[in-house]
Amino acid sequence: MSGVAETVFDELKRYVRWSETDEQALRSLHGAAVPQFQLLAEEFYDRILKHEEARAVLAGGESQVGHLKVTMVAWLDRLLAGPWDEAYWEQRYRIGRVHVRIGLPQHYMFGAMNVHRTGLARIAYERFHDDPDELQRVRTALGKILDLELAVMLHTYRDDLLAQQARVERLSTFGQLVGSIGHDLRNPLGVIETSLYILRTRIGEDDRAKKHLDRIGEQLGVANGIITNLLDMIRNRPLARERVALAEVLGGAAAVVKRPAGVSLDLEGLDGLPAVEGDPVQLRQVFVNLLENAVFAASPEGAVAVRARADDGAVALEVEDTGPGVDSATRRRLFEPLITTKDKGIGLGLALVKRIAERHGGSVEYSDRPGGGARFTVRLPA
Ligand code: ADP
Repeated sequence: MSGVAETVFDELKRYVRWSETDEQALRSLHGAAVPQFQLLAEEFYDRILKHEEARAVLAGGESQVGHLKVTMVAWLDRLLAGPWDEAYWEQRYRIGRVHVRIGLPQHYMFGAMNVHRTGLARIAYERFHDDPDELQRVRTALGKILDLELAVMLHTYRDDLLAQQARVERLSTFGQLVGSIGHDLRNPLGVIETSLYILRTRIGEDDRAKKHLDRIGEQLGVANGIITNLLDMIRNRPLARERVALAEVLGGAAAVVKRPAGVSLDLEGLDGLPAVEGDPVQLRQVFVNLLENAVFAASPEGAVAVRARADDGAVALEVEDTGPGVDSATRRRLFEPLITTKDKGIGLGLALVKRIAERHGGSVEYSDRPGGGARFTVRLPA
């Protein structure tokens, strides 16, 4: 798993000249520090909660902090008690991955680490001020271990950046491929469609054959839809500018999205909405994509609702479902292309939603639906 982290940290330990003396020094501080871990954890999170931007990253807010403090006490305990072996770094690496996942900007880690640096230096002084040699050893060891901690955390960010870079490269190759394959597939699909049309006039009253022709026609539609989405993703279709009634757009979208009998669909607040200016075909695509995802998430039994309201010179449309909601790992990259958790997904639906909304001067946002499920809010200038 973190094979990379192990070798890097063996090397880093060598670099900071980590030694038996450091390990002894930290252990000698451990006993005196244990009763103060809780206090250190409190100071640590107080500091974060007082900082508005850093607090915003702790998505669960104060309710989550209780749990985090428990983790922090365990972190401090291991920091001073060791052993500083491979398992130690693997655990630290995992904690770093959590920071990356929740999108904590890396510069906050330095400020936060400094809270511990100061707190532990204070405890070291209280314990060893009458033993200057030992105090010095403890200070040196603390400096080394906390720097190593920062290094391992920065490393997790670096790994994340490399993965992101690889994805961007994949995308640009992907874009070129898609352009040509998508384009070339249109022709054979067109031929199939024509032949299908001719066959229909020839099969007479054979119901089973008709049913199969219908199925072929349906799947042709799906295949064409996928190609349209792919091509839309790599080139900007010119945007029509006309007055669009959203009630019609949503009605049209709702009509083409298939849903099982167990999933209900409610449209609220669409009458009397101010018109928006834009491209009705592309806007319909926005809601087809959102409704398809919502129905998928709410299946086999659940509810999908669209709520619209005029909102300060804009129109806000919420598409909600009672499914499981978006898991936290997917959330951060939700609107990027090729992000999917579905076996047969390609992960273009939401990327297109975002692209189209933004080209209309609008936006799209995800939030958890109160009571469970997903909520996507599309805002368009009225
Ligand atoms: P795809 O549908 O091909 O996977 P999308 O871009 O439409 O591509 O969606 C990306 C991912 O976002 C989905 O695979 C799913 O994990 C998540 N997602 C989208 N909409 C919802 C929703 N309403 N509820 C839960 N997860 C969702």
